[in-house]
Amino acid sequence: MGPDTPQLLATNIHKTFGSHEVLKGLSLEAHKGDVISLIGSSGSGKSTFLRCINLLEIPTIGELTVHGEEIHFREIRGERVPVNSRQVQRIRARLAMVFQSFNLWSHMTILENVIEAPVHVLGKNKKEAIEQAEALLDRVGLHERKHYYPAHMSGGQQQRAAIARALAMDPEVMLFDEPTSALDPELVGEVLKVMRSLAEEGRTMIVVTHEMDFARDVSNHVMFLHQGKIEEQGAPAKVFDHPDSERMRQFLAPKY
Ligand code: ADP
Ligand code: MG
Repeated sequence: MGPDTPQLLATNIHKTFGSHEVLKGLSLEAHKGDVISLIGSSGSGKSTFLRCINLLEIPTIGELTVHGEEIHFREIRGERVPVNSRQVQRIRARLAMVFQSFNLWSHMTILENVIEAPVHVLGKNKKEAIEQAEALLDRVGLHERKHYYPAHMSGGQQQRAAIARALAMDPEVMLFDEPTSALDPELVGEVLKVMRSLAEEGRTMIVVTHEMDFARDVSNHVMFLHQGKIEEQGAPAKVFDHPDSERMRQFLAPKY
């Protein structure tokens, strides 16, 4: 694996639910430090694409390679499944996902949430995991809340905790699915600030977002999805200021 090996390579991803083809051949290549924004109307397939990338859904057709490791599938009674569930687990651990709805464990404190997977999935020593978790909670501005339960924190704090939990896996790529869409407007900024700092330190990120300013300022590549296809993609300055696609223009129109 050379220095040019992409962190993530998704090729010709299709996903069909029943007779509904939701993804119609999407490809994406992320190299170290890339921040790729996925934008598009509701229902265009953004979440399904992210879920295929970390194997929460199995693509009906298409290939996935995570830092040189190809995911193997086989067919059982016409349905595609991963060959090896250990491989799936390993790949998921390398592609941490942050969800719109935070998905913290409500019966655990923030600190317990952050150490859970490092201890139980990566087999880290608990003391080390706690030290690392404390540093990460400090980094997202939550150190003094480490013993709080999620229900006692604001949405912005919960989402920052979810980001700390994702970072604790030291993932190769971080996947964000509308991480600020469930937040009250005054809490969006604190989460975007953390995400900006991750981008600045060179994290590889794929971000589904409706925050066009974030997509424009922070990402180096923007993909606009329409009905399960990539309708337009490129550098933010090009895609936002001189889109080729009429649909992209319409999508942007209400916001500018
Ligand atoms: P977006 O995130 O861009 O809003 P989604 O990926 O959530 O879009 O959804 C794309 C389409 O796929 C929608 O029409 C949605 O109803 C459909 N879809 C998503 N998940 C499933 C599923 N598990 N079963 C059937 N249809 C689904
Ligand atoms: Mg979605």
